[in-house]
Amino acid sequence: MAFLSLEFRNLNDLLVQQLHDLYDAEQRLTEALPKMAEAATSSELKSAFNDHLRETQGHVRRLEQVFNQMGCEPKRETCMAIKGLIAEGDEMITAKGDDHVRDAGLIAAAQRVEHYEMAGYGSVRTFAQQLGMQEVASLLQKTLDEEGAADKKLTRIAEGFVNVSTPQGAPAGSQYAS
Ligand code: FE
Ligand code: ZN
Ligand code: FE
Repeated sequence: MAFLSLEFRNLNDLLVQQLHDLYDAEQRLTEALPKMAEAATSSELKSAFNDHLRETQGHVRRLEQVFNQMGCEPKRETCMAIKGLIAEGDEMITAKGDDHVRDAGLIAAAQRVEHYEMAGYGSVRTFAQQLGMQEVASLLQKTLDEEGAADKKLTRIAEGFVNVSTPQGAPAGSQYAS
C-alpha cells in the first residue's frame, strides 16, 4: 500500500490530517464493534461493546462538529493502524475453542484499540490547545474521556473473568470453564 506524501505548512495542517485519520478510524470501528458484540459470550461484555458502539457513533458526529468549527471538510484518510487492529479483532471473533477465553481475547484486542484512540485524541487535543482552539480542544477531550472510560470498563470485565479462573497448573485453555 502506498503512503500518502504529506506536507505540513503548520501545526494546523497536522491537526487536520490527524483528525482525518481519526475520522476514518471511528467509522471503521462503528462497523467492527457490532461484530465484537455478537462474538462476545459474556452478556456484560456484549453490552459493553454495544454501549461503546453508541459512543463511537457519537465520536464520528463529534469529529464532524470539530470539522465544522474549524471550517474544514470532514474527509476520511485511511487509518492503516486501525485496519490492523480490527484485523486482530477479527482473528479473535473467529477463534474456536473456549468461549470465555475468546472473550478475554476480544477484550485484549478492544483495549489495544482504546489505547490507540487515546493516543490519537490526546495528540489532537493538545494541538488544538496549542493553536488556541479551546472549543475544539474540549470536544476532543470529551471523546478522550470516553475512550479512557471504555478502556477501564474493559479492564474491570477482564478482572471479573480472572476471578473464575482455574487452579494453578491446569492446562492452558481450560481456564474460565463455566
Ligand atoms: Fe472512539
Ligand atoms: Zn491512524
Ligand atoms: Fe473507542
